[in-house]
Amino acid sequence: MMQERECDVLVVGAGPAGLGAAITSSKLGLRTIVVEQSSEIGYPAKSSGLTWKEVVDDWNLPSRVISQWTSSFYLYSAHSTREVEIDFGRIVGGTLNFHIFLQELAFQAIRHGTKIILAERVSEPLMDGDFVCGVKTASGDEIRSKIVIDCSGPSAVIAKKAGLISPDWNAELGIGFEYEMLNYKVRNPNTIEYYVGEEEIVPVGYGWVLPTGMDRAKVGLDTVHSATESLEIKDMINYLNRFLGENSPIYNRVKDAQPFEVHSGVYSLSGMLDKPYSNGLMVAGDAASQASPLLGEGIRYALQFGKRAAETAVEATNANDVSEDYLKLYQQKCGEYLRETFEVASDLLKVPTDEYWEALLGALTRLKASGNTELVIKYLKTAMIREEAIEIFPAFEGKYL
Ligand SMILES: Cc1cc2nc3c(=O)[nH]c(=O)nc-3n(C[C@H](O)[C@H](O)[C@H](O)COP(=O)(O)OP(=O)(O)OC[C@H]3O[C@@H](n4cnc5c(N)ncnc54)[C@H](O)[C@@H]3O)c2cc1C
Repeated sequence: MMQERECDVLVVGAGPAGLGAAITSSKLGLRTIVVEQSSEIGYPAKSSGLTWKEVVDDWNLPSRVISQWTSSFYLYSAHSTREVEIDFGRIVGGTLNFHIFLQELAFQAIRHGTKIILAERVSEPLMDGDFVCGVKTASGDEIRSKIVIDCSGPSAVIAKKAGLISPDWNAELGIGFEYEMLNYKVRNPNTIEYYVGEEEIVPVGYGWVLPTGMDRAKVGLDTVHSATESLEIKDMINYLNRFLGENSPIYNRVKDAQPFEVHSGVYSLSGMLDKPYSNGLMVAGDAASQASPLLGEGIRYALQFGKRAAETAVEATNANDVSEDYLKLYQQKCGEYLRETFEVASDLLKVPTDEYWEALLGALTRLKASGNTELVIKYLKTAMIREEAIEIFPAFEGKYL
């Protein structure tokens, strides 16, 4: 098929950030091209896909993108053998079928006029002086654009080559690794489960069980806190095998289960990019490390920041000014969405791991007893301003918060 070689907005990557950007820019009238290295949208899945109901509502997605809706949260500490379960009394989120989710987003982008080029790897930016003016692909093609939005995930291909990311920025990588399993004896299909314990589960992160049906669940682990010694994928596989083994708190549920998909990936733990834009370029989603530092939630942020990058692209092209001076508007828009929430989350991660999880268990037990489950949702959504974080963790006031 003959490909177009010129557009207003060139988006690198068809993950949540890229598709959020493409839907928005094509809906607002910009000629938009997405270049995706994979030959199929949504494959391979590199995410567990736990997200909030508002994502489904805000992006007009059909309910079939959700494998299983969520209305309660369970936390178990293998360190202290304490547990707490909080029923929110309504559906608050769900676990996505990530393949269908990304395809439905791609359908929206295509319906608004986006062209998607599959099985083509972007290799470097095209430059006009110090302005990014398109991309080159591994097969030698050149696609020109007024603005490039780099949504290539942790590889951050254009951001790196355009010098926005220093070579040591990705020094600390978080890793997530999970199996989606059949024959899992689900505790409660509407409950998402987290398992913590520095020695017992994983040193610097948490384990999870996300039901995706009556006999199916995603079972995995990730790192969220910075590790003194960085963990590698083989370490995560070892920790996950232990989490599935005889001494695990979920052993009786998982012992007959079999994996039918593996989802794994990395993300930066170095914090958000200080400057996710330069002349002719914006960076969104994991490429700019825009996931929650608290629990690693990235899908909602990738969509939101892809959308904001595209809105900025519309304003910049209307003003005929794609200089970095104009594009800093993008960072302002992201800041308005986040307020101080990521700073508060980063402060909480200074608390030593088991001290932090035990404090969380105590806090959730107290909030459950007082009926303040909305504050629990704010915690899970990384949506706490400082006063709210102190209300949840009063003992950390002045020490970490
Ligand atoms: C194991 C794991 C579990 C997770 N679970 C959750 C969860 O439950 N909930 C949640 O909210 N977040 C979760 N996250 C985080 C979330 O998945 C990411 O934050 C989110 O996917 C980021 O979206 P993105 O579009 O920025 O990047 P990505 O999803 O990484 O998409 C990037 C896209 O760019 C393409 N690409 C890369 N390089 C090139 C190139 N050179 N040329 C062309 N295309 C390219 C890739 O193929 C990919 O399609 C998880 C992450 C991991 C690793």
